[in-house]
Amino acid sequence: AATEPDSNRRAYAVWVSEIMLQQTQVATVIDYYNRWMQKWPTLQALSQASLEEVNELWAGLGYYSRGKRLQEAARKVVSELAGQMPRTAEDLQKLLPGVGRYTAGAIASISYGQATGVVDGNVIRVLCRLRCIGADSSSPAVIDWLWDMANTLVDRSRPGDFNQALMELGATVCVPKAPLCGECPVKQHCQARHRMEKELTVASQKLFGKPAPVPDVEDCGVGGCPLCPPATEPWDSSLGVTNFPRKAAKKQPRVARTATCVLERRGCHGAPEYLIVQRPSSGLLAGLWEFPSLPLAQGLQEEEQREVLADHLRAWIGQPVAMGSLRLIGEVVHIFSHIHQTYVVYSLPLDADITLDPALSPSRWVTEKEFYASAVSTAMKKV
Ligand code: SF4
Repeated sequence: AATEPDSNRRAYAVWVSEIMLQQTQVATVIDYYNRWMQKWPTLQALSQASLEEVNELWAGLGYYSRGKRLQEAARKVVSELAGQMPRTAEDLQKLLPGVGRYTAGAIASISYGQATGVVDGNVIRVLCRLRCIGADSSSPAVIDWLWDMANTLVDRSRPGDFNQALMELGATVCVPKAPLCGECPVKQHCQARHRMEKELTVASQKLFGKPAPVPDVEDCGVGGCPLCPPATEPWDSSLGVTNFPRKAAKKQPRVARTATCVLERRGCHGAPEYLIVQRPSSGLLAGLWEFPSLPLAQGLQEEEQREVLADHLRAWIGQPVAMGSLRLIGEVVHIFSHIHQTYVVYSLPLDADITLDPALSPSRWVTEKEFYASAVSTAMKKV
């Protein structure tokens, strides 16, 4: 913030980095961020980009709707807000699509110095440990409490630095599995650590036959408190400070199978070319390109898979496809956040020239090099 005097550019840069960093690690984001800012250094430049260009640059970063929404929001700022970024967390969240409470707080505190807190996964962990919050950390009561706490704690004079420091503390010291409590700059305030130390004292007193101390009234955990560990899952001594935070059991990802076919022809210079088609503009991997693919119903035998795939391909190439000509190559597994996807990969070499039906979704023939430069997902690159 100190090196960029133009507040709109500052907020735009923080915004891009924050959106890219959602669900993606810093090491991966840096290269994407630099390329993005080089290509679209301002909101105005981004507002003129096409979705295809955005998807191409985003390819491999995952969660593709993030790039799309970023570009839509940039267009909105340029066309409806006279190119001026909203100046407060409340307005950022209200006016910009894809900007939630966390991103709004980060942009407002880092770019404009608004004294507003942020709560991300790292902050949740640090605050839950600092205050022994043992209820499900995704429950509304805990989330509200964490935001209140973050807004109370934030340094009024350097809110951006404070928020980044708190997140960094979670990323580097108060890490999920083996936190470095001995090196922690806030250890004297940490109730989880106090509790752990107290337990060690009690254990050693027991060892020497001294009577156990009377329980401290502040070690509540009873009476249906919405912030304490549930009575069914009390403090586990073997876990120490990593008793916190507690999370509700994760939902199992949905299992899905998709047949996909790599159609290959000889291009005009003799090099092989492959057919790619564009996915619908909404839903998973919206607007990205892929080999013609078809979700498979559960329990289909290989013969039945070939049959439905041959049918599907006929629509693309406008002529019947003999089931026997589809060669089964193998299976590729790709894990999306909520889907365990298996691609059953076939290939089909074509001799005759094919005229693609313009009434269908956009499709095109690409060389291998063009394929990698296109807006295709990591899953398709694996295929
Ligand atoms: Fe986290 Fe340990 Fe620091 Fe507490 S003392 S905030 S548990 S690293």
